[in-house]
Amino acid sequence: MIEAAQRQRDEHWMRLALAQAREALAAAEVPVGAVLVRGDTLLATGRNAPRAQCDPTAHAEIAALRAGAAALGNYRLSGCTLYVTLEPCAMCAGALLHARVDRVVYGAADPKTGVAGSVLDLFAEQRLNHQTRVQGGVLAHECTALLAQFFQARRRAHKAVHPLRDDALRTPDARFEPLAQGCHAPRYLSDLPALDRLRLHWVDAGPPGAARTWLLVHGPGQWSHALRPLVDALAGQGQRVLAPDLPGFGRSDKPKREAAHSLAWHRQVLAQFIEQLDLRGIVLLVQDAPWALALPALLPGRFAGAVSVASPLPGRASRSAVADAPYPDAGHRAGPRALARLREQGDGDEDGSAQARRFWQDWTGPAPLALGKAPAELAGARALALAPGALLTAAGAQALAAQAVPYFSPSTEQAPGA
Ligand code: ZN
Repeated sequence: MIEAAQRQRDEHWMRLALAQAREALAAAEVPVGAVLVRGDTLLATGRNAPRAQCDPTAHAEIAALRAGAAALGNYRLSGCTLYVTLEPCAMCAGALLHARVDRVVYGAADPKTGVAGSVLDLFAEQRLNHQTRVQGGVLAHECTALLAQFFQARRRAHKAVHPLRDDALRTPDARFEPLAQGCHAPRYLSDLPALDRLRLHWVDAGPPGAARTWLLVHGPGQWSHALRPLVDALAGQGQRVLAPDLPGFGRSDKPKREAAHSLAWHRQVLAQFIEQLDLRGIVLLVQDAPWALALPALLPGRFAGAVSVASPLPGRASRSAVADAPYPDAGHRAGPRALARLREQGDGDEDGSAQARRFWQDWTGPAPLALGKAPAELAGARALALAPGALLTAAGAQALAAQAVPYFSPSTEQAPGA
């Protein structure tokens, strides 16, 4: 009878931990949830959030322990039981031992990193100064099913949602594995009319509700990864930052034919991207991409400013593994070749250029900023006091963000009616 009552209690709390795991799932994190309980009282909850918090230690157990200790005003949690939907890892087991938690109850076993019996059993290790009672397998089926659902969906998402067009190439994911991935999950879409089912990749960082959204457009010899220091610096200042890979570049699909590329087409893709994501309060930052400065003319009312960065293009000799990662062979390079050619031919984009000039001449918001030589489209730009190429290093990106974020923030904006 006592055992049956204990099992019922365990299942009751595990259901609350599962609810936390589902919240993690909804936030696109690996679905693991935890609750901390003393007697019949719920002290704290926690859910997995390493991605959102950019923190490798943001496991469900750690979150619950932190909140529980804060609630009790005591870093020792004697008399407490922690329920977690997945067998704890070594880090969490260590934290649970330091916290002197009495008992740990988990759902699904983790044959890869679990240390409550699967890989090791740290909780029963007699050479450690504290032992913790452990119970596994509570609502194991539900806990496992939720994890399986997450991983299956992630695998399926790609194949089903973004089939590869016959006349395009897709760089294998393995090419990007050696690169630092950062904390921003790759995002993809392929349902913009202008893309005609090509898969577009972008990085999305910072809070979605930020007052300013920075749209970073990379240059012809680059892809979004080169702008990563700036993405991190702007997101670190509370800005939302989107850095797409143009079609033919980075992790986006690559049309095989150079002729598929025109500046008007790239502009159309970005305009539809902005509309689909309903971006507003956009600060447009272009790196050697003056053609993108005509975007606000296509979507008036959505922009808050512009920054132009002229960065020295890396020559052949300085080509790096990062710059080369998206291009396993010459066939994958049609995009960079096409944009370099368009650039040499004076971009062949007189209409777009004129549109951009008119737009920025009539602009009543904060004057655009320029690092290096400002393009003709931004004739009235103010010079940023930074070394050329600054945005490619962490320190330079921090310096740029420190100048530009307050400059474009809504409180200092001079646009009428803003
Ligand atoms: Zn853990």
